[in-house]
Amino acid sequence: MSEHVDDRVASRVRKRVRVEGIVQGVGYRPFVHALAARSGLAGLVGNDARGVFLEVEGEPADVDRFVLALEREAPPLAAVERVSTEDVPPLGEDTFVIVHSAPGGRRDTLISPDTATCADCLAEMADPADRRFGYPFLNCTNCGPRFTIVRDVPYDRPNTTMAGFAMCAACAAEYADPSDRRFHAQPVCCPACGPSLSLLDAGQHPIAGEPVAATVALLRAGKVVAVKGLGGYHLAALAGDESAVAALRRRKHREDKPFAVMVADVAAARTLCATDAAEEALLVSSRRPAVLLRRRLGAPVAASVAPGNHHLGVMLPYTPLHHLLARELGEPFVLTSGNVSDEPIAYRDADAGERLSPIADAFLVHDRPIHIRTDDSVTRAFRGREMLIRRSRGYVPQPLTLPAPAPRPILGCGAELKNTFCLARGRHAFVSHHIGDLENYETLRSFMDGIAHFSRLFDIAPEVVAHDLHPEYLSTKYAVELDDVELIGVQHHHAHIASCLADNAQRGPVIGVAFDGLGYGTDGSLWGGEVLVCDYVRFERAAHLAAVPMPGGVRAITEPWRMAAAYLDAAGLAPEEHEVARRNHERWADVLAVARSGVQAPPTSSAGRLFDAVSALLGVRDRVNYEGQAAVELEQHADPGEQGVYPVTVDDGQPLRIRGTDLIRGVVDDHRRGVPLEVVAARFHNSLAATAGDVCAAVRDRTGIGTVALSGGVWQNRRLLGATVDLLEARGFAVLVHRQVPTNDGGISLGQVAVAAARAGGGG
Ligand code: ZN
Ligand code: ZN
Ligand code: FE
Repeated sequence: MSEHVDDRVASRVRKRVRVEGIVQGVGYRPFVHALAARSGLAGLVGNDARGVFLEVEGEPADVDRFVLALEREAPPLAAVERVSTEDVPPLGEDTFVIVHSAPGGRRDTLISPDTATCADCLAEMADPADRRFGYPFLNCTNCGPRFTIVRDVPYDRPNTTMAGFAMCAACAAEYADPSDRRFHAQPVCCPACGPSLSLLDAGQHPIAGEPVAATVALLRAGKVVAVKGLGGYHLAALAGDESAVAALRRRKHREDKPFAVMVADVAAARTLCATDAAEEALLVSSRRPAVLLRRRLGAPVAASVAPGNHHLGVMLPYTPLHHLLARELGEPFVLTSGNVSDEPIAYRDADAGERLSPIADAFLVHDRPIHIRTDDSVTRAFRGREMLIRRSRGYVPQPLTLPAPAPRPILGCGAELKNTFCLARGRHAFVSHHIGDLENYETLRSFMDGIAHFSRLFDIAPEVVAHDLHPEYLSTKYAVELDDVELIGVQHHHAHIASCLADNAQRGPVIGVAFDGLGYGTDGSLWGGEVLVCDYVRFERAAHLAAVPMPGGVRAITEPWRMAAAYLDAAGLAPEEHEVARRNHERWADVLAVARSGVQAPPTSSAGRLFDAVSALLGVRDRVNYEGQAAVELEQHADPGEQGVYPVTVDDGQPLRIRGTDLIRGVVDDHRRGVPLEVVAARFHNSLAATAGDVCAAVRDRTGIGTVALSGGVWQNRRLLGATVDLLEARGFAVLVHRQVPTNDGGISLGQVAVAAARAGGGG
């Protein structure tokens, strides 16, 4: 070695660097390459099973700046979780190279969620001179399908559903060029080599013409078209066409549950709904969830789109195909999951052709297979921050960070309705996409397949399995049949509050207010109006709504008038004298007898059932067509300006008992005196919020805990949530609400994992 080289090496440093997080398939290596070139640094970069490894050599200040930039300037889709460095001897190299990926090793690589088409791709699609002009499957390193096409890791084309499409020479050149936007973009393709569209009639025979234009013509003619998307099939219909939307409802057997609407851009969303900055940021985010927005009076949307609801789920296009459709159609269209009633969304072509043929007049399909069924995510903003309602496409499988690492690999099996599962290792908690209601074979199948898929992708073989206490949940049955694992049962509402803690990276202890539908209690009764003092390891039931019978058991869930009967009776309010009794007179006496007998009438402290009772008492809903409908519609009626409150007694004891019957008495008195529905509905919400505040204050007096966590499906109610947060904050509480996982049962699996991690490790 010459003197000259020795001198140069002497002043240099070389670092070996490891970058972990979502760093593969997101243009990370070309970014590193360009960064090194710009800084005049030498070294190498490559992918392996744990993420990106690199070595960098140069002057110390340059190397330090480079290492900082690895996180700060990372490409848009990357999520850098950790950068670790180690000094190694300098080699005197001059160049920076991208080296081949090293196989093997444990799989710590993360997979990016599916990501909405980027601005660069949209510009190409709109450019008549571009070879991808009008091509509905273009994508690049910064956008496109990911999670829904991955069959296995490492994330390379042969392990995706693009394996069957051989790249043409032009695409292969882009794929191999580190300076190209498509360098190592696994789904890269073009009209010459990639997937293509076709339009089929209900009998699966081709329809002539350009597929997008022909689809638009069908939609304009009031037809329902099944559209193959990213994570499954959608059903589309013109949102402004009442007869088209009504036909879609009829054929789908979906009476009232709101449909989501797709519009071309934010400007179009503003014509339908009132939006604020936070909501618009969610609309345009590359995750592209459906965002719940307040509908404008007179918005040009058919009544059948979201009956009885002042809100509308609005989505912007997230695939090139959606962009083409939205632009060509030029008006809002319903885009709802392709299924019948509560079945899982169809995602395989043959199955979709069969199941959706009674619903769809035509099928807009393509030949890129969908590997895993993934529904649209649903979100909203609460006080300027995101509050997810359904976490699925666009968010999954990005992991959440556990407040304390899992000592062993853990599976949380979730609940029954709105099921998700969660696999965890170390600090990573992989909450699954929305699986759905585990009440039919096909959903159970996708639950089990999903667990197997996640286990493989993230190399997690669970040793600890957390489950709900309800013995009849299919997720519980799945757990207890597993061999060679440690089982940890987690009470439903403890899981809710633990989920909210983990969601906020807190450890507790906390006062948890779990207002919910139903969850199995430790005493075998059905809980759901609970105030728990808890951390991850243990909980104490500090207060709850006084239990009332649920006449007819699960039938009371779909028939809220039964809860009105039970509550009127419990309140001693001569049940037969009320309108709700007259409306339901054929069954009233029987149901009342059932409630009094206690047979087929399990006691429940559920806050959701209290909402049901009030909704029926006020004539809003006697029967529901989807979970929570009675409460959702009651909330819509509540007068925003009304401040009145009914007095509610909380009985001393351990636990404290909240007299729900006092709320019923207030509602009935007002209703009889002719106080308008809007005022009574508002007072009921106000009173429940005030009671929650009083109880939390009493629990704080006893325990000294000043933080409250709100979790459970009832907190999807904006009116109740807003009023409760206001009251608690006014009393000096720190209040935790959900952000990244749903407050409904979709968040349960994360809470189960957090509890199991603490218990399995013996920590708190
Ligand atoms: Zn792109
Ligand atoms: Zn090509
Ligand atoms: Fe729940």
